[in-house]
Amino acid sequence: MVRIRSSQKFFTEEEAVSLTGICAEHLRGFAELKHLGSLAVAADSAVRKWLFTSSDLMIMAVLHPRCQH
Ligand SMILES: [Zn+2]
Repeated sequence: MVRIRSSQKFFTEEEAVSLTGICAEHLRGFAELKHLGSLAVAADSAVRKWLFTSSDLMIMAVLHPRCQH
C-alpha cells in the first residue's frame, strides 16, 4: 500500500522508489514501458529527471511487485 500526501503533486524518481518499493532500475524501465511519468529536462543542463504524479505511483504500485533483490 502506497501512502501519498495529497498535497504533493509531483514526485522525483528517488521518492517514487522509496514509496513503491521498486528499485530505480526497474522503476524507470516500467515507467518507459507504460508511458508513466514525464521527463523534465533542464534547459541549461544535460541532467534529465523523471517526475511522477501520485496516480503514476498508484499504477506502478498496483502493477509492479516490490523489488526483492
Ligand atoms: Zn528491481
